[in-house]
Amino acid sequence: MSIITGKEYLWRINRLKADIWMDGERIVGELSSHRAFSGVMRTQAELYDIQHASPELSFRQDTTGKRVSNSYKIPLTIEDLIARRKLTEAWARHTGGLMGRSPDYMNTVLTAFRMSTIHLQKSETVHPDRLVAFYEEACEKDYSFTHTFMNPQRNRSQLAMLDDDCMNAHVVKTNQEGIVVKGAKLLATQGGMTDELLVYSAPGVADKRHAYLFSVPTNTKGISYHCRESFKWDDIQYNAPLSSRFDENDALVVFDEVLVPWERVFIYEDILATHQLYVKGYFTPLTLHTIVSRQVVKTELLLGIAQSVVDAIGIGEYEHVQLKVAQIAKGLESMRALLHYAEQSGEKMDGYYIPNRIPLLVAVNTFQETYPRFTEIIEQLGASGMITLFSEKDFESEVGEKLSYYLQTDVADGKEKVRLFRLAWDICMSPFGTRQTLYERFFFGDAVRLAKMIYDIYPKDDGLALVSQLLKDTK
Ligand SMILES: Cc1cc2nc3c(=O)[nH]c(=O)nc-3n(C[C@H](O)[C@H](O)[C@H](O)COP(=O)(O)OP(=O)(O)OC[C@H]3O[C@@H](n4cnc5c(N)ncnc54)[C@H](O)[C@@H]3O)c2cc1C
Repeated sequence: MSIITGKEYLWRINRLKADIWMDGERIVGELSSHRAFSGVMRTQAELYDIQHASPELSFRQDTTGKRVSNSYKIPLTIEDLIARRKLTEAWARHTGGLMGRSPDYMNTVLTAFRMSTIHLQKSETVHPDRLVAFYEEACEKDYSFTHTFMNPQRNRSQLAMLDDDCMNAHVVKTNQEGIVVKGAKLLATQGGMTDELLVYSAPGVADKRHAYLFSVPTNTKGISYHCRESFKWDDIQYNAPLSSRFDENDALVVFDEVLVPWERVFIYEDILATHQLYVKGYFTPLTLHTIVSRQVVKTELLLGIAQSVVDAIGIGEYEHVQLKVAQIAKGLESMRALLHYAEQSGEKMDGYYIPNRIPLLVAVNTFQETYPRFTEIIEQLGASGMITLFSEKDFESEVGEKLSYYLQTDVADGKEKVRLFRLAWDICMSPFGTRQTLYERFFFGDAVRLAKMIYDIYPKDDGLALVSQLLKDTK
């Protein structure tokens, strides 16, 4: 097999019949026909079709001669890195960057883990060879992934990690066939609508039963996905332009004595190896490169929405309005600059071309602060337009003409004005939009700890040397 089409993606997921729950009921039948999943799975299928139809978004593998997604490309040169970005950009342009877990994200994570096997010593508990083989399988079959790394939010105090906490997913036993896992993990965005589930213990575990890396098919016996309520509150795209197409859903994942076969166990009961994979490996720079590439496109969308609102209601002459739009433009340009600087200042490591992680960390950490401000700006500019949101049915009813007349602007009739403002509302204020804000706040982890990571790794020697020099020069 080679890169798949949207039809193949839908066919594969629909036949999994995984154990997925929503609103107190198990989902039966084809997942892509379920109201909550139909829109987003159609969009995901469209992404695969875009990749399939665009030769520049995939590459021919030397070993097999087959076409493989650029998101699985191991970067050996800066051109490889740019090819990876081009795929993310192409997909993000189709979704406005609103699907954070489009397949490029997790394919990148697996690729980064594959690249990091160089830092893993094979032992009874560590199996880099299996990870390499699984990566090859994922490339060949163009698998889609969800992941769950975090433990449920029971008690985050520092000493809580020393508790014998059997609520979190952990290895309960091993046998000839594999490891047996029991407990829960939080969260898996797109949980249930991918081929595979990649499970990794968040760095900082203290109990070796909680230290692992493995991947299993989504429908593995004993795994259940407990989805939050759907934010696709309306099927009509005019009414819910974004949530009807891009709501990825987020699920709590429960493992009820799940057997993970040995060939899928890459690390188990090994705190040092899971930690080294994260700290010494390429997870952070490569994954951040994909994330920031998407966030740049998403910021372009926010800028476009803000300017469209300004133009629609004729407020562009006011200075504070210009300053607000400029704030988004400055954010966009800064993100773009950081992304390109990270690419250009990357370096060769272990034979790979690795983007510079510091500008990427700065970009993602800054976005956690600026994204909520950008959506706030759109609310401030849109004002009452963000709430006078009549439905398609209203406009088609006997009062439709009246509404269209009284809601018109100088550049659009009422129905077209509301179409734009519904888009603005769906990205800022709808349940889908507010989730997007939370998502960006926590996308690559908690902002506070990310800032601490920047503090820890940022080279400060030049600044310190300058201070010493000036102190020395001061009479
Ligand atoms: C919409 C959404 C989708 C997600 N999708 C996924 C997914 O697909 N897969 C996945 O694995 N994860 C996913 N996550 C989880 C995400 O990675 C976490 O939200 C993030 O890492 C923060 O962890 P937490 O939510 O447990 O917050 P917590 O760690 O519980 O933090 C809560 C608050 O306490 C503070 N705090 C807690 N501990 C400390 C500490 N040690 N030092 C300082 N401050 C602390 C934090 O600053 C924060 O303000 C998703 C989250 C969201 C919101």
